[in-house]
Formats: sequence, structure tokens, C-alpha cells
Amino acid sequence: MDKIKALLKGVERQLEESKERVEREGEWKLVIPPSHHGIAQEDIPRYAIRVIEGLVAAGYQAYLVGGGVRDLLLGFKPKDFDISTNATPEQVCRVFTNSRIIGRRFRIVHVVFQNVIVEVTTFRSNQSTGTVKVKTASTPRRLRDSKRAENVDGMLVRDNFYGRSIEEDAERRDFTINAIYYDLRSHSLIDFHGGLYDLTHGIIDIIGDPEVRYAEDPVRMIRALRFAAKLGFTITDRTAAPILECADRLTSVSNNRLYDEVNKLFLSGHGAASFRILKQYHFLGLLFPQLGKWEGDRDFNAFTCYALDSSDQRYREDKRNMPHFLYCIMLWKVFMSRVLEAQALNTAAYETHSVAKIVQDAAEDVLRKQYRMTAIPYTTESTIGSIWRNQYRLLSINDPETVADLTSKRSFRGSFDFLKLRANFEPYLLPYVAFWQPHYDVSSRRAQQLREVRDRQDQEQFDRRSKRRQKYAERSPEAYQRPTAAEDNDRLARARAWRAAMHLDP
Ligand code: ATP
Ligand code: MG
Repeated sequence: MDKIKALLKGVERQLEESKERVEREGEWKLVIPPSHHGIAQEDIPRYAIRVIEGLVAAGYQAYLVGGGVRDLLLGFKPKDFDISTNATPEQVCRVFTNSRIIGRRFRIVHVVFQNVIVEVTTFRSNQSTGTVKVKTASTPRRLRDSKRAENVDGMLVRDNFYGRSIEEDAERRDFTINAIYYDLRSHSLIDFHGGLYDLTHGIIDIIGDPEVRYAEDPVRMIRALRFAAKLGFTITDRTAAPILECADRLTSVSNNRLYDEVNKLFLSGHGAASFRILKQYHFLGLLFPQLGKWEGDRDFNAFTCYALDSSDQRYREDKRNMPHFLYCIMLWKVFMSRVLEAQALNTAAYETHSVAKIVQDAAEDVLRKQYRMTAIPYTTESTIGSIWRNQYRLLSINDPETVADLTSKRSFRGSFDFLKLRANFEPYLLPYVAFWQPHYDVSSRRAQQLREVRDRQDQEQFDRRSKRRQKYAERSPEAYQRPTAAEDNDRLARARAWRAAMHLDP
């Protein structure tokens, strides 16, 4: 926040005035020229500039908006840049051949630049005439032609009513701090809802009537909590009050969307803060319905906070955090209590299920129930299952066959990491950690070597492509714009990150 205060020095009075006008009149246009906001064009990636310039050249309006502008002003490195335009998705596609329309509920365009995707959204409108009411989200006949449709609870199941102006678009955005526009032509910031004031004062305030906005899209409640955790901001009373009352509307949101939201909450460097705020607003038990009594358990809280703090630290060190590890942590106690219950039943009934079978069934049961809330992908689910099952196998240090088998498995290092994490709270595991550590080091070195081989292969492939491009450029120089070295490196880094995220590396 210090950065933005320094950036916006000299316009404090204007910000305050704009906030007062917004409170009185619902909307007030504030334009901050480049001399007063300090965002440089170099801060914005070339690919985003190219999309905006392409749209403007075709006669449309286009602005940067959302998290990219917000994070630049706060001095963070933006995760992505969103572009808002008055061109319809079809018109955007006509401007960029390298684009495609995605989404049904909310149609947007992806403009694809090799490994970078730029999201372009068409101005939305708040116009409620023409909004179709449907009984269920799956009323295909009536939904087919409607641009905007809501179900009986007021939840928007389709929102493709296009607005004509940036003002209308701003009104449809979620929070004031996410509705600040950057105009590339004049390099000015445009703010209609006092977002710049809120940004300088650390405030999260929803645009419009909070209850209506949460009813339209309950995910906005989680987004409010996420931004409070991420930015350390305070949620205004009017924005916070309905969150406590409308929380159970979350159950009508698709489990795919909630899976993404949970990842954003916990894997991007503010997991511990997200955990605390979710608990405070009673959302943790909604997102992880099986936690039940564990939510108030001291050991569970100490273990989870410690694990999330370590993930946040990893994020700061530019290391990746994976969803499977998050679910291993979050549902560990639930899984363990399920195993213990099954073991007790097993003994009482004199049945002969092996521990392996009990553990396997418990893992499947816990994950199946969690899936109803957050759609964990199959590969992630099977990695979680392996890590949990391996917690038992890692105790068989006197069996050479198990040792050989475990160390050859893909899931070995993840399982060991989890064992090590647990050992901070279960000291009896320390000798096991000491036993496996040398195996882990060997496995890590081997994986590193394999990664280096893959990186070398990537580099060679890139060099070959560059040579081909060069030849092409020499043949027709006017038709060809050579990517800069920085762009090439950027692309290479993205290819590696993608491979890592997809588990394609050992
Ligand atoms: P981050 O990228 O850091 O998660 P963001 O604010 O950019 O944060 P996105 O999901 O990328 O979040 O959305 C881009 C912009 O689209 C937001 O800043 C906001 O203006 C708008 N937006 C996103 N989701 C909603 C929503 N559910 N309701 C209204 N506006 C939304
Ligand atoms: Mg974004």
C-alpha cells in the first residue's frame, strides 16, 4: 500500500472527493493522468499491448482492467492481465485469427500467443430487462436463446448481455478495486466506483447491492475473502455482513469452479491467511464438509497452519505448490479417523481386511465425498491416495522389497515430504525420516538430472526453430517480426512451468 500511496501522491483530495460522490450518486468518473499514477508502459507485457492495439486499430475500445491493474498499482507482479472491450466475442475473433471463444455461462475470448493466453471480455451490462428466469440451471430450451438468465434464487446461470459503455461494464464487476481501467491511448487510469480510494485505504467494497450481487454469483463471497487474505485488506461492513448470512448459497456453485477457487485461495502465497479468514466466516467447513469437529481441534489447526505457512514460504521462493499436497494436508485428519474407525470395526467383526485395503477404501471414501464440493481431477485424486497410502508403507523400513519399490515410485518424494511435515507434530516419525532422507536425496538428484536433460532438449528444439525462423525472415523480411530474446526466454520458461504443473517431469 505504501507504493500506491507514493504513486498517487498529490491526488489524495481528488480520491476522497470521488469516494464521497460515489457514495452519494452511486457512480463518479475519476480520471488520473499518467503524471499522477506512475504506471509505465514497460510494466505491461507486450502481448497485452498487442491485443489492445489490435482492437483499437480495428475501431473498438479496449482497456486493461481487473487484477492486473490492481496488482501493478500495489507493487505486486500481476498474475495475468484482463482486457475489456466493446467488441463482441465474434468481432474479437475476427480481429485475431489466433483466438477462440470459450465459456457458455460467461462467454470470453482467448487470444493465444504460443504459450501465453490473453483473456478478452466484452463489456457486460446490468440491464435486467431481457433476463430470463429459469427453474433450474439445466433448462436448455429456454436458455438456448437468452443472453442473460437467472435461476429462482437469482443466481446468474448465463451472463452475456453486452454493455455499450465502459461505465456499464464497471458496474458489473465485483469489487471497486477490481474495476479500475487503464487506457493505453492516454495512459490514464479511469475509476467509476472509488476503487483508487479503496486501494489506497486497504478496503474491499463490493459494487452495488451486496445481497443481489452474492445471489447472482455466490463465488463473489469467496473472492471477497480471498482478496482480503491476499492483500491484507479490510472488508467493509456492508460487504461482509451478507457473507455470514448467505454462505450456504455456495452449495449451488459448480464443483469445478469451487475447485479452482480453493486452489487460488491456498496455493498462491496467502494460504495461511486464507485459512484464518475462511474459518472466521465459517466457510472452511463449507468447502471441506467432512472436517466437522476437526475444525475446532487444536492439533488439526496447528498442523494445517504450519503446513500452509511452509507452502506460502515455497511460493515466495518461486517453488511450485501442488493441489494434491493441499488436499493431503487438509483432509489428513479426516482420512486418519476414517482408517481408525474401519480398523476398530474390522477387529470387532473378526474380519480379515488387510491394512492396505482399509487404507485404500478410506482414501477413496474421503475423496469421493470431497469431490461433491470441489471437483478434484482424477490424476490429483490418485496422487493424494498414493501419498496417504505410502504413509503406512514408509514405516516398513526393514523390508528391502518395500524400500526398493517405494523409492522407484513417482509418488515417493511427495510422500516423504508429507511424512517429514507430519514428523514436526508426531516425533515418533523422526527415525523414519532419518532413514528415508538419503533415499530422498538420491531421488531428488536423479530427478534434477532428468530435468536438465529435458531442458537441454527443449533448448535444442528452440534453437532449431529459431534457425528456421531466421531463414524465413531472410526470405521475406517485411512479413516477419522476429521475437526478441526476452520473448523466447519467456516462452521457454512457460513451457517448463507447464510441464512441471502437468507432472510430466520425474
Ligand atoms: P487474480 O487474477 O489475482 O485472481 P482478478 O481480480 O484478476 O484476480 P480474475 O478472476 O482474473 O480475478 O477476474 C478478472 C476481473 O474480472 C476481476 O478483477 C473482476 O473485475 C472481474 N470478475 C471476475 N470474477 C467476477 C465475478 N464473479 N463477478 C464480477 N466480476 C468478476
Ligand atoms: Mg486476473
